[in-house]
Amino acid sequence: MIDLRSDTVTLPSDEMRTAARDAPVGDDVYHEDPTVNELQRRAAAVLGTEAALFVPSGTMGNQVAIRTHTERGQELLCERESHVYKWELGGIVQHSGVQPRTIDGGERGVIAPEQVREGYIEEDLHRPGTGLLTLENTHNSRGGRAIAPERIAAAAETAHELGLPVHLDGARLFNAAVAHDVEVREIVEPVDMVLACLSKGLGAPVGSVLAGPEETIEAARRHRKLFGGGMRQAGMIAAPAIRALENRDRLGEDHRRADRLAAALDRIDGLSVEPPETNIVLAETDRPAEALLADCESEGVQGVQFGEHTARFCTHWDVDDEDIDAAIAAVERAA
Ligand SMILES: *Cc1c(COP(=O)(O)O)cnc(C)c1O
Repeated sequence: MIDLRSDTVTLPSDEMRTAARDAPVGDDVYHEDPTVNELQRRAAAVLGTEAALFVPSGTMGNQVAIRTHTERGQELLCERESHVYKWELGGIVQHSGVQPRTIDGGERGVIAPEQVREGYIEEDLHRPGTGLLTLENTHNSRGGRAIAPERIAAAAETAHELGLPVHLDGARLFNAAVAHDVEVREIVEPVDMVLACLSKGLGAPVGSVLAGPEETIEAARRHRKLFGGGMRQAGMIAAPAIRALENRDRLGEDHRRADRLAAALDRIDGLSVEPPETNIVLAETDRPAEALLADCESEGVQGVQFGEHTARFCTHWDVDDEDIDAAIAAVERAA
């Protein structure tokens, strides 16, 4: 079976398993795990921030970031199709008591400066006031669109003029950097906090990092504990995550394979596929996506349903060129 459901399905390499076994560890709640400390130091260096915090998942990282930057009863501005709003069980409300106000970022999911201004509300006797702007790059639900650093900077600048901090959900930030051929730190520079997943295209078995200024990260550490994310000998999972951080340049291969997959699927009757920008391929299907995906699975390839007539296929480091050829043939038979 060729599994293109997500880039989270990758299995740890032998090198990662060895690193986990041999990692020096300690109690990270006491700041005593040298491997976690090393991962956090390296992640901060790559992301260009003062500090970083290892968190078990991207979802926890985003929710901790939101809690850290907002007060109960405030509003948060986010894109209509954003992960924090759509795919985190309403955590914005559940964990932070914050009301989301959504912005339509169009087919690319880009929030324009004037939309930040329109969405922002000042606190008064009747209105709660806006506490945070969240951005997403790459934008998952919009098909892995890689938003240009200038667009992130423009939205962040307007937010800052309004006194709003900015959190960037960069679950696939490394893919965005590769797509735009820039250092990740260039995308991160204008925002106040960033979440990056190590367990997606980079291939770590577990874990994400939250990064930002020292003081904010210390506040985030308390919220991570509150949310149950204070871990003990977490060096066991930080060690493979350190190896994952070195896999950044490899993401270009995933993007090239996604390009090839998309172009081939687009030629199949009943499918229409836009050229992808990163490793996510969204196929619009004439038939209900659910039925097509069931047939794909019988033919040996898995994707996920992303809408009634949308199927998502994701490339990652456990699929090679031959797998892509086989996947194309399988979808062709299924369609
Ligand atoms: C996957 C993803 C997350 C959540 O990461 P998990 O580790 O699965 O909790 C957050 N934001 C975006 C954009 C994602 O794609």
